[in-house]
Amino acid sequence: MFVLWLTGIPASGKSTIAKRLAQELKSRGVDCEVLESDEIRKIVTPRASYTDEERDWFYGVILIWLAKLLFRHNIAVIIDATGHKRAYRENARREFGDKFVEVYVKCSLETAMRRDPKGLYRAALEGRVRTLPGIQVPYEKPVSPDVVVDTEREDVDTCVRKILDYLVNRGLLRPQKYCDQLDT
Ligand code: ADP
Repeated sequence: MFVLWLTGIPASGKSTIAKRLAQELKSRGVDCEVLESDEIRKIVTPRASYTDEERDWFYGVILIWLAKLLFRHNIAVIIDATGHKRAYRENARREFGDKFVEVYVKCSLETAMRRDPKGLYRAALEGRVRTLPGIQVPYEKPVSPDVVVDTEREDVDTCVRKILDYLVNRGLLRPQKYCDQLDT
């Protein structure tokens, strides 16, 4: 099993890839769960302040704790969260060691702002959101991510296949059986 963190600026494509990746893993018989930070926040911090302190607690304690619970029960974990500070992802790497996979979901700010499916950039530009990574607080790109998917140049299928291939090559996922006969 593994804990795979999809990190990237808002609207880079994390949630889209997470959903497709989870479907693909389930179709291969792998138990997996997506930890989507936006959804978890609605429950643990319904009036989220997005301060440094709250983010440190959310990424350092809540998200890691949930991932640990699932991982302990042999469930593959996909973390779908910007995690704008390198320290958050490094903390997860320390926790899960060689079972941790960091995937950088790469996308330029211009494209992300054009996509803006959740209206976050618009809200930041209008001052309704005050700490959006990429705009008001820096997003710290991974220094040596395990996988880079470029959502401006690679379609969703390609991104997902790239991640699956990496997992297989690293021995974290069994290769797909291409032929039923191989099963016997
Ligand atoms: P995030 O979770 O990073 O905030 P979303 O997945 O919610 O981003 O939104 C990304 C948007 O970009 C979606 O509208 C999606 O359809 C689009 N998109 C275009 N190309 C890709 C790609 N290769 N991978 C993922 N999303 C893509």
